[in-house]
Amino acid sequence: MLRSVFLAAAGSSRMERLISSAPVSKGIVRRFVAGDGIDDALRASRELADDGLAISLDYLGEDTLTAEQATATRDQYLTLLARLKDAGLTPAAEVSVKLSALGQKVDDRMAYGYAQEICAAAAAAGTTVTLDAEDHTTTDSTLEILAELRKDHPATGAVLQAYLRRTEGDCRELATAGSRVRLCKGAYAEPESVAYQSALDVDKAYVRCLNILMSGAGYPMIATHDPRLIAIAEDRARWFDRSADEFEFQMLYGTRPEEQARLAAAGHTVRVYVPYGDQWYGYLMRRLAERPANVAFLGRALTSKK
Ligand SMILES: Cc1cc2nc3c(=O)[nH]c(=O)nc-3n(C[C@H](O)[C@H](O)[C@H](O)COP(=O)(O)OP(=O)(O)OC[C@H]3O[C@@H](n4cnc5c(N)ncnc54)[C@H](O)[C@@H]3O)c2cc1C
Repeated sequence: MLRSVFLAAAGSSRMERLISSAPVSKGIVRRFVAGDGIDDALRASRELADDGLAISLDYLGEDTLTAEQATATRDQYLTLLARLKDAGLTPAAEVSVKLSALGQKVDDRMAYGYAQEICAAAAAAGTTVTLDAEDHTTTDSTLEILAELRKDHPATGAVLQAYLRRTEGDCRELATAGSRVRLCKGAYAEPESVAYQSALDVDKAYVRCLNILMSGAGYPMIATHDPRLIAIAEDRARWFDRSADEFEFQMLYGTRPEEQARLAAAGHTVRVYVPYGDQWYGYLMRRLAERPANVAFLGRALTSKK
């Protein structure tokens, strides 16, 4: 119930104006977002890298409706990748890209062209790109663009969402040699026709997808904070005889940092997804939808006088 309220709010421009303009919203944003600019992204990346963690940086923004905005997003990623290289933060840090921020919904050829430039810049900087998964209306286009990008940049990562009924099939398609695949539960409000609705069904689908990826030839990237799924993934790694460099765990910035440290200390690769930028509204609403405890922070932020 609460989840659908926050996911509906994620698409409301009235709510966006209200929450984005409340000065104290910044407090809760700081928990999940590294800061507004590239310097903040570099600082957070340095801290995580010093702690032995890998990073995937996300420049916040989605559903871009103008070519100018898409071009500005492309430029931001090109600058970010150059700065990461200069700072010696590659290959520890890669980037995550939302094709909708590159104008996918306006002109998917433009989004493809910009993604291609970002992949080339990432390769020149000695690192990789992962294409985030967005709502289900974009899945076919995103996977088609991924296949095209992989012709020149085979290390480009895919993201598959376990809650989509189609995803077991996509896992089979993508569990090939060298294929980097992030498996997450899925963060958007989706209809029953395309997505499992109950938490139990989503968890069961996640395990089925995990089995396909962990037994396949690709490189699974297990993106979850769920202790049961993490334990099952560790079990499958033993079962399918995968060494520590043949899969990784991924978690979001600000979420379960002790667990991130525990897994890294146990010898696993742990990559932290680090968002930055001032377009944080949609991202924040999806985080609130996931965890009722996060809502208390927002309530305090909005009612605080400071
Ligand atoms: C690295 C990464 C990248 C992602 N990329 C995408 C993407 O491209 N597209 C997309 O749709 N979604 C993406 N997501 C979001 C994802 O789909 C889920 O919405 C999000 O991860 C919440 O699901 P969960 O698996 O963590 O488990 P949940 O179902 O949210 O939580 C399960 C259990 O985990 C534990 N837990 C969760 N959060 C906390 C916490 N803060 N503190 C303590 N315990 C906690 C609790 O025990 C909880 O019951 C990504 C997630 C990660 C981690």
